[in-house]
Amino acid sequence: MNMKQMPITPESEQALFFHNYARLPIAITHGDGSWLVSDTGIRYLDMIAGIGVNALGYGDKRLINAINEQAAKIIHASNLFLLQPQFALAEKLLEISGLSKVFFANSGTEAIEASIKMARKWAASSGNDRKKEILSLSNCFHGRTYGAMSLTAKAKYTDGFEPLLPDTGMINFNDPLDLEKKVSERTAAVFIEIIQGEGGIHQISAPFIEKLNELRQRHNFLIVADEIQAGCGRTGKFFSYLHFDFEPDLVCLAKPLGGGLPLSAVLGSESLSDVFSYGNHGTTFGGNPVACAAGLAMIEAIYEDNLMAHAVEIGSFIKTGLLQLAQKHSQITAIRQYGLMIGMTVDKEAKFYVEKALKKHVIINATSQNVIRLLPPLNISQGEAQQCIMVLDEIFNEE
Ligand SMILES: *Cc1c(COP(=O)(O)O)cnc(C)c1O
Repeated sequence: MNMKQMPITPESEQALFFHNYARLPIAITHGDGSWLVSDTGIRYLDMIAGIGVNALGYGDKRLINAINEQAAKIIHASNLFLLQPQFALAEKLLEISGLSKVFFANSGTEAIEASIKMARKWAASSGNDRKKEILSLSNCFHGRTYGAMSLTAKAKYTDGFEPLLPDTGMINFNDPLDLEKKVSERTAAVFIEIIQGEGGIHQISAPFIEKLNELRQRHNFLIVADEIQAGCGRTGKFFSYLHFDFEPDLVCLAKPLGGGLPLSAVLGSESLSDVFSYGNHGTTFGGNPVACAAGLAMIEAIYEDNLMAHAVEIGSFIKTGLLQLAQKHSQITAIRQYGLMIGMTVDKEAKFYVEKALKKHVIINATSQNVIRLLPPLNISQGEAQQCIMVLDEIFNEE
């Protein structure tokens, strides 16, 4: 067989694939630090890092060595066996979090599914057979499989897919009064993002967390922290919930966790150790040894290179730059920055500016209609950050 390959273009993408992604019209061949390189040799400054995945940018030698070494030993064995890389990463995550148990899966949405199942199973053994309800917050995003989608706020993710998971519901974001109205003895769990990512970079408020904590004691439900986007150091602490004085019962990690390979984790408190019994839950690929080895190398690099402090420093440098732009350009209406998780509200569809930035070889991302989102690699340099600010300045000038 000698089939002709299709060119790597938006047209053949339309011909080959289901139409569920609005991809940028550039063909990427490789990456280099904070830069993506296209098949035409153009270098793009990557301010979204694979949607918050590539914490170390591209080409980190420690990551590549860890992947190569583990791949040479064994790529997959399944969870029928004890696998050293899973042990090493689990120990590391428990040491950092102070939590007691780990479950590994492959993607963010799978970590959420496992948490939903754990919450329901935990509630089922509480003696209250009406305790089934899983609540989340308005404007949230938790993933796209049925359970996670049922918790996700926006109609654009759920329209046409009904019926959704029963006994789910939504609390108004940062509204302690609504929270108090909605939770009860029937609540099994409340899922929260400390900083909403897809929702446009919005931080949960201290009074809301305080009320949630208080109500957990009163009604006995689980708090599940979705750290899939904000976790692993992006906000300046390893978990974004560490910016507040409370402890979640379950924590979901994914995006950067596998150093670019598919990996997610659910971390849980000691009291949940025995909720799942053998066969209750599982996955073929979850905790893949190569992904776990990469994840461990990624976390070690974050500590070795002081990337959390760096994220705080560069994040505030970017914020200062963006505030200066906002004084000059009326198109910018708000700026929200937590480490290297940055949102900028603009006067029209953010996609308009994404296309303009692409022409100037800077990759930014649009979320929530009118929010420009920046999730650069945690090791981005100040010079690169400055370059992004300069390009944004040019774009707003042109208009
Ligand atoms: C990306 C994301 C998810 C879903 O993760 P996938 O790996 O795409 O399934 C869930 N929650 C949050 C906060 C996310 O940012």
